[in-house]
Amino acid sequence: MTIRVGLGYDIHPFADDADRALVLAGVHIGGHVGLAGHSDADAVAHATCDALLGAAGHPDLGTLYPASEGRWKNARSMDMLADVVERIRGDGWSIGNLDIVVNAEVPRLAPHLDAMRANLEAVLGAGTTNVKPKRGEGIGSIGRGEGIQVFAVALLER
Ligand SMILES: [Zn+2]
Repeated sequence: MTIRVGLGYDIHPFADDADRALVLAGVHIGGHVGLAGHSDADAVAHATCDALLGAAGHPDLGTLYPASEGRWKNARSMDMLADVVERIRGDGWSIGNLDIVVNAEVPRLAPHLDAMRANLEAVLGAGTTNVKPKRGEGIGSIGRGEGIQVFAVALLER
């Protein structure tokens, strides 16, 4: 059996538009302004896609799904993740596990972790996914609450 690891990373600033929804792993987190960026700026979905694509030896998310391309322009990022999973399964890979760190000073993510994991596992498979919240501890842009940063590692098996 061949195993491969991939690392995904993403960062988005909070939007200036107070009406922008905050969406992480497809979960709408109320009570806080959303992230700026293309599509729904779902940084968890984006980092997860890049971890899987990296492990499978594909180009990154921005290359495969350019924001300029009509089909993905206003797409839900979780739909992109489903497309990525279909792509790598088509290559014969099965998903071992994913470990995801969400670095955010605000909002508090603990109440949303179960829903985030459930959404991810609906695409990636039951029992594959761990989501861990971290804080910036006042250091740097994340510590000042200017945005959200996500790291993801994925293990694939074939
Ligand atoms: Zn992103």
